[in-house]
Amino acid sequence: MNATEKALVLKVGRFRESDCWVKLLTPTRGIFNAFAFGGSRSRRRFVGCLDPLSHVLFTFGANKTGTYIVLAEGSLLHNFPGVRTDPVKTGLAVNCIKFVEAIEIDPSDARPAYELLLETLYMLEKGGGNSDFVPWLFRAKLAFEMGYKPDFLSCGICGKSVTVQSGYQFGVEKGQVACQTCLSGGKPLEGLARPISTGVLRALDWIQSSQPADWAKVVMDREVRRQSSQLVELFVAYHLGLSWDNGMYKKV
Ligand SMILES: [Zn+2]
Repeated sequence: MNATEKALVLKVGRFRESDCWVKLLTPTRGIFNAFAFGGSRSRRRFVGCLDPLSHVLFTFGANKTGTYIVLAEGSLLHNFPGVRTDPVKTGLAVNCIKFVEAIEIDPSDARPAYELLLETLYMLEKGGGNSDFVPWLFRAKLAFEMGYKPDFLSCGICGKSVTVQSGYQFGVEKGQVACQTCLSGGKPLEGLARPISTGVLRALDWIQSSQPADWAKVVMDREVRRQSSQLVELFVAYHLGLSWDNGMYKKV
């Protein structure tokens, strides 16, 4: 096996005198560990590549017995100096990385995670993003991208578009909206359901179609933000089995 692929470096550790292990995320392989033998000494093969948050084009192969992956060389594409030198931005980036790690992403789902993380780093690098929005917008967007694409703008039972009326509920299990007419007609949502306003439905729809670059200038009514983020956490907990607790993601 010899391959060349773009990767985001998530973590780097050193062992023995000059060897490194590197935790990588690539669009086709997901998250995996690889070894860079002589990596901390080689100025030529890995210039600037073996630092967390680096975006690198790596050439890698397997060892003789095929039991682990060895990095042969790398070309640095970007190392996000603006994120790296700002503790707040570093914290936001690490928060997003921890979430991707906690999902235990399948290689077939790796591309959206890789692309979203990369776009988020570029947005932070350009000076955007704050802690009120980035962490939960990232979780929301990734959960929606991974195939759980709720339709927030029409009733999942009768199909009518969401209007300014009140009385909507959102069923977390099926990612389905139900309107007041359907609910009062005795068609309840299955499982966990929450009342939801039109404003929150529109906010969630916006998040679903947004790009990280849009998050830099997002403005959201305080109450809409509170309710939207609560619903996102319920959705993530149910579909990805994770909740944020005390600085780490826990399986729920
Ligand atoms: Zn309906």
